[in-house]
Amino acid sequence: MQVTSEPKKVTYVTLLADESIHPRYEEALKQVEKDFGRHYPMHIGGRQVFASAGEFELRSPLDSSILLGYFQKGTAEFARKALEAANENFESWSDRPWTERVALVRKAAEIIEKRQFYLAALITYEVGKNRYEAIAEVNEAADMLRYYARVMEENHGYVRPMDRIVPGENSKSVLRPHGVWAVVSPFNFPLALAGSMICGALITGNTVVFKPTSEAPFTALKLYEILVEAGIPAGVINYVTGPGSSFGAEFTSNPLVAGIAFTGSKDVGMQLYRDFVSKQSYPKPFIAEMGSKNPAIVTAKADLDKAAEGVVKGAYGYGGQKCSATSRVYVERGVREDFLKILKSKVDKIVVGDPRQKATFVGPVIDDKAFKKYQRAVEQAKRDGGKILAGGEAPKAQLPKGYYVTPTVVTGLPPDHRLMKEELFVPFVAVDEFKTLDEALEKANQTEFGLTAGVFSKDPKEVGEFFKNINFGVTYANRKGGATTGAWPGAQPFGGWKGSGATGKGVGGPYYLLQFMHEQAQTIVEDS
Ligand code: NAD
Repeated sequence: MQVTSEPKKVTYVTLLADESIHPRYEEALKQVEKDFGRHYPMHIGGRQVFASAGEFELRSPLDSSILLGYFQKGTAEFARKALEAANENFESWSDRPWTERVALVRKAAEIIEKRQFYLAALITYEVGKNRYEAIAEVNEAADMLRYYARVMEENHGYVRPMDRIVPGENSKSVLRPHGVWAVVSPFNFPLALAGSMICGALITGNTVVFKPTSEAPFTALKLYEILVEAGIPAGVINYVTGPGSSFGAEFTSNPLVAGIAFTGSKDVGMQLYRDFVSKQSYPKPFIAEMGSKNPAIVTAKADLDKAAEGVVKGAYGYGGQKCSATSRVYVERGVREDFLKILKSKVDKIVVGDPRQKATFVGPVIDDKAFKKYQRAVEQAKRDGGKILAGGEAPKAQLPKGYYVTPTVVTGLPPDHRLMKEELFVPFVAVDEFKTLDEALEKANQTEFGLTAGVFSKDPKEVGEFFKNINFGVTYANRKGGATTGAWPGAQPFGGWKGSGATGKGVGGPYYLLQFMHEQAQTIVEDS
């Protein structure tokens, strides 16, 4: 089978060097503003649906006086209707040749790419991402979809001839879709991660009820519209909005749900997992990508400038609100002081502010809850003997209407302190020290999470030790562009171990699609 070649990648790094993006992004900011303040419905079975329970207001984290729109407060009743619509459409969708589904997903990728500036501007307004990160996310989403299309082709639609054991018998293995999937997405990658789960399900022949986070239903709506515009029948994909808990109860208990794909926090993921197991009458697939507390190890053999740069990018990219964000750093005692000096000088130079501005690296955190969590973490660090080496402030005076906080480095916390263990999801890094690499690895692994980890060392033996002994799913050595961040579809399959993921098969990786199908052995006996 001819495999289509992939276009050049547009990533955060390539964007930094591309001056042509700025006028286009700035124009898109104005364009997107024209869509603000409207009332947006849910989409169930191709119909626009307004909830009787009313609407919720969506405001921008960069300035809460900006009202982005009104979205529907859907309830379990709408979840049920959407599941029924997805169920009615399952047979026709799964019957279509897989090559057609691949073509439609590719078409969606093309539209996403064409609208990259509009979508990026919306992501900035909705979740506060700076322009580089927002444009990179849009391109990542398009690449994710193209990658899944490629994987389907490379695997010939997952139809595979098998051995002939008995003369006259022809056998094959066919992977077939499960049915209706409930897809629940997080706020921090409202396009790329929602797109990954939805298209993983759709391309393999399943139908979908999509419930995005209430923090970013707008980008999610645009994704729904793009999928329908690409030719995916409305009803095969359904879009519902509202509080997670009402949907969670329906998704876990409704027998029409064949599988759940969830990305979000460990607490919510584990709750859904337990409920799904206990309320369904037989085991069903549950894909969960969850939180983490990601470590970076800096040995005495590291290039310290590169290590500090990697930690800055990894910890503070999108304000620490990436599941892959670096949040713990273990530095070898002999180079601790030098490393901290370089780290502090870099962190002090970070530009915090309105993410619409070209110079901004760190925009706001997502909401008041995250803002308060940051303040509490800083207070607790101070109270428990930690030293604030950089940051630790919330510059409310200059930016009164958004949730802005400064990138923070804390030293001196005990290794088992809460702030060294719990995911905070704000720009907050705790630095500890070690004497031997074994000790560093032990400390790094002492967590219930296992998503991403990084090491900085010029010694290949140390790097080898790190890869062998670190219990994390996505690992990097000497990555200046992000100590623990920056996975890309087709390059770094993105999946967590332990409490960070349910299946161990990474998003954007070669095994991801397998999770949305079950195998059927088909044997035909020839006429004798
Ligand atoms: P969250 O857990 O608060 O919400 C995720 C989704 O779950 C949202 O759509 C929300 O509405 C829904 N939800 C909340 N309560 C629910 C319930 N009781 N039943 C059903 N659905 C419910 O997460 P978030 O704040 O949106 O995102 C941040 C979290 O996601 C972090 O923990 C981060 O590490 C994680 N994350 C993980 C990955 C990964 O690939 N491992 C990627 C992105 C984000």
